[in-house]
Amino acid sequence: MGAETAEIILVNASTVFIEGKFKPDTYVVISHDRITQVGVGSQWRSHVSKNTEVVDCDGGTLLPGFIDTHCHPMAMALMHSYIDCKERQIVSLEDLASAVTPMSGASEWIRVANYPSDSLHSMHLDCHRLDSVTQSAPLLLIDDTGQTCIMNSEALKRTGINHGPDALAAANYGLNLRGIFTGNDKRVSDCVPPLSETEIEAGVRALNRKLLSFGITSVHDTSWTNGLDSWRRYNAYKQAGILTPRVQMMAGAQLLDQFVAEGLSSGYGKDGLCLGAAKIAVDELLGTEQPDAAIVEFYIRKALDHRFQLSLHTGSSYLLKMALEVLDSLASDGHPLLWPIRFEHCPVCPPSLWNKLHGNGKVLVMQPALFYEFSIPEAELTQQGAAESWYPIKSLLEAGISVAFSSDAPLGILNPLTGIYVAWTRNTCHAGSVYKSESIGLECAIDLYTRAGGYLDLSNSQKTGQIASGMKADLVLMDRDFSCIDPKGLLDSRVNLTLVDGKLVAF
Ligand SMILES: [Zn+2]
Repeated sequence: MGAETAEIILVNASTVFIEGKFKPDTYVVISHDRITQVGVGSQWRSHVSKNTEVVDCDGGTLLPGFIDTHCHPMAMALMHSYIDCKERQIVSLEDLASAVTPMSGASEWIRVANYPSDSLHSMHLDCHRLDSVTQSAPLLLIDDTGQTCIMNSEALKRTGINHGPDALAAANYGLNLRGIFTGNDKRVSDCVPPLSETEIEAGVRALNRKLLSFGITSVHDTSWTNGLDSWRRYNAYKQAGILTPRVQMMAGAQLLDQFVAEGLSSGYGKDGLCLGAAKIAVDELLGTEQPDAAIVEFYIRKALDHRFQLSLHTGSSYLLKMALEVLDSLASDGHPLLWPIRFEHCPVCPPSLWNKLHGNGKVLVMQPALFYEFSIPEAELTQQGAAESWYPIKSLLEAGISVAFSSDAPLGILNPLTGIYVAWTRNTCHAGSVYKSESIGLECAIDLYTRAGGYLDLSNSQKTGQIASGMKADLVLMDRDFSCIDPKGLLDSRVNLTLVDGKLVAF
């Protein structure tokens, strides 16, 4: 069979990642969009026909394409029009000034994102200090938590915020006359001109290249603000062929009616685009850390009534505990669960909750790279027992709890190798390695970034995330042998090739 139809055969990989293990001397045969055979040795030669492209992997490692089960692709695309302080390692106003200089003649908006919030606060950054970066162009700076933004004097002048009827009240608060806004300030979003469609599309193209260059072949857009307009946007980008990786877009639970009116529910879609879960993030929606259980229950019921998968924003142990209690109370109602329930983030996961999380049908969608970047409060570390509940990945797996990995980019680092490195080493950039006993093996960490994501793929029921006959040929070739790699080598590795749907894609 294979001999006539093989379109691509990947050979000479040092190792191929199969069933959670590195296997040496293995080849992979691809026909159309599928893997048709995985074999050992030189037997691949019998599959070669005149139309077959034989790809030499040059001793690299072949992995299933990475599946980023929690990220915000459109935010990443929009970031393309911003100066990204994290990416460009800007930590001071001086750094920023030198990054801005080339544009300073222009009077167009300068947008800056991911400015380190600790430096922002310790420097008492305000509009007057920002004026030292540029006075001629309006400048908008957002910090790395996304919770504070500052405008320079020109930006305040252009938006009229400084001169509006609420200027006096603002002066009393001492906030916006200094150009500082906290939270999602509507006046800012109303007054700052939006990006043009051309700018957004350029961002999507840049995003596409970035994802493929990291070997990410599927993304789950977990933004709670996604409505029908976001869905249409993705449809357009897919149709235009400018976004290659598979996209599973969640719907904001409070916007579910828009989808229901169009007859859409989880699992709907085609051509690499699929409607995902209802994202229930009541805390973010209402801007409170401890929302009422009744509101959470309202959205859970609504999602289940309309055949949506549940994705619960559980960024704290309070939210996780509450979500589990609400689900318990609903279990007796006989609401059918069509899909695994997703618990997003769970950075703190106390053992007292584990018995409610194990077993099929529940998945913790975690971001190990956030563990790398976020400093754990000293008090938490020293408090006996408390710190063990920070990303206790090994214990969770041993308790039979399902975990999938993701980045939460642009908040977290997009490159899956960072998350895999952290889960493997437990190294953080602030506190050395934290609770190394919770580290998992390299193979296991890769598995959670691939197969575990395939389990959450609603479009084609577990046909992505593994290298096996019959699976979608979404693959990534790394530039070195992972079976004998050290942590530093892992961080230095690069992607040589990415395949989506059996096609080699350029990036
Ligand atoms: Zn997120």
